[in-house]
Amino acid sequence: MFVGHYSIAFAAKTERNRVPLWVLFVAVQFLDYIWATLVLLGIEKLRVIKGFTAGSMLDSYFHPYSHSLIAAVAWSGVAALAYGTFCSRHGCQYRKSAALIVGLAVFSHWILDLIAHPRDLPIYDNTWKVGFGLWNYRDPEFALEIAVLAGGIILYLARNATAAIRRKAVIVFGIALVVVQIGDTYVPRTPLTDKATAIGVWIFYTLFVLIAFVVEKIGRRRQIDLP
Ligand SMILES: [Zn+2]
Repeated sequence: MFVGHYSIAFAAKTERNRVPLWVLFVAVQFLDYIWATLVLLGIEKLRVIKGFTAGSMLDSYFHPYSHSLIAAVAWSGVAALAYGTFCSRHGCQYRKSAALIVGLAVFSHWILDLIAHPRDLPIYDNTWKVGFGLWNYRDPEFALEIAVLAGGIILYLARNATAAIRRKAVIVFGIALVVVQIGDTYVPRTPLTDKATAIGVWIFYTLFVLIAFVVEKIGRRRQIDLP
């Protein structure tokens, strides 16, 4: 799963919880940030093999610290605690539910990966591997990514009474994510090394976080100025 993860970020944001969209963009990919970092450090192992599955070249054969179920639960707890602590210092609204939402957003990554990944997600350590393997079916996997992303964006637009200009920006951002997914799924390319792939993850994911940050600034002044 790739851009489909962002569906949860869009869907989780409401005017009530006021968790910034960029925080949710980090949260839904938090496990992959850890994974990319551990691959760069040589602690987790990745092979990039052309045609490994129909929809992905990633053979993540050792990633127990970022992608086991136990690790996912633990990292979700860490993220919720971290956001809760940040909130108590900065006085966020609905601190407890906001922290819980961030934790659940982190955990959503494992659930969506479970659908897409081949059997490479361990329950604990490096054993009892699970994965429904939708990546073996390129078009259905692509369709699911786009469908959940669209659903998340529709929920975001329905639940956040944003200025018209921001609504447009969110839709353009959504279209850009679809284009990125088309490139990832359908454009043939030579496999990168494991380390280059991990650096790419850091760059692309952080770019999306920055765009999410900017998108929520758009039209803000105009909203405040309204009577
Ligand atoms: Zn992942």
